[in-house]
Amino acid sequence: MSAKIIDGNALAQRVRAELKQRADHLGARGTQACLAVILVGEDPASHVYVRNKVRACEQAGLKSLKFQYPADVAPQTVLDQIDALNRDPAVHGILVQLPLPPQFDSTSVLEAISPAKDVDGFHAMNVGALVQGRRAFVACTPAGCMEMLKSAGVALKGAEAVVIGRSNIVGKPLALLLMHAGATVTICHSQTRDLAAHTRRADILIAAVGRARMVSADMVKPGAVVIDVGINRLPDGKLCGDVDFDAVAEVAGAISPVPGGVGPMTITMLLANTLESAERAAGMSHD
Ligand code: NDP
Repeated sequence: MSAKIIDGNALAQRVRAELKQRADHLGARGTQACLAVILVGEDPASHVYVRNKVRACEQAGLKSLKFQYPADVAPQTVLDQIDALNRDPAVHGILVQLPLPPQFDSTSVLEAISPAKDVDGFHAMNVGALVQGRRAFVACTPAGCMEMLKSAGVALKGAEAVVIGRSNIVGKPLALLLMHAGATVTICHSQTRDLAAHTRRADILIAAVGRARMVSADMVKPGAVVIDVGINRLPDGKLCGDVDFDAVAEVAGAISPVPGGVGPMTITMLLANTLESAERAAGMSHD
């Protein structure tokens, strides 16, 4: 293997230690940063994600509140809870774990969260601010990818960046962040003709698709920086990314693994957003 590993676990540990100091400082001034998490239904993956988020909060000195509902709950019940949390000054971040059951209109649920507490960065007001390059809560996975690139010392100005995937939660916001940082960005998706022709031009290649090992070594420019957002479960139960790690690591200059790459940084950015919201509420913003 020739590529440098961009270690999301190690970076997450460093950032979380800094966040803990900030949380303690805020606590000493009488405010404990608090994240409220809403979980609907029995999706096992969602339960694991929520458990991990709650645990991460505890370790970083943040408070977390969990509101759990059965899959057949009336959407209005959840909307009423969001309304109460919006008005509660002791709550600084509100997260609704997706996916929601079919009776929900996910967009209207996410839009019910106050933009000032939208630590997932999914509200149209925060997305709009991101489009305009204004300060906003940025979706946690794209924000985590940017921190990984920064930690690896990757030069973004003028770089060719290719993002595979155009979802609202990963591909689109990440493309905007890369563009704001000075990269020339191409967004690829399921209708892209000749994907490899695009990916081979990339100095920075981000895969956010959800197809195991779809990015092969011959799709990667020698020396490129490859960030693998994908999380896929193989038939043997193991997790793998969208990138054929072993083969691509022979070609790339730097690569993030799965697991241990973007995942831990996603949760870290959730903590960072919640803390920032609490600091703002306490008049201690870092702006
Ligand atoms: P979506 O399913 O919402 O989006 C997938 C994107 O991939 C779509 O834009 C789709 O194109 C595109 N796509 C599908 N097939 C192809 C193909 N053959 N060639 C090129 N593009 C293709 O997924 P998400 O963005 O929510 O997540 C992507 C992956 O990242 C998943 O594996 C998910 O589990 C993982 N993830 C990881 C996180 C982490 O913390 N590490 C957090 C969030 C997600 P089109 O728009 O045309 O359909």
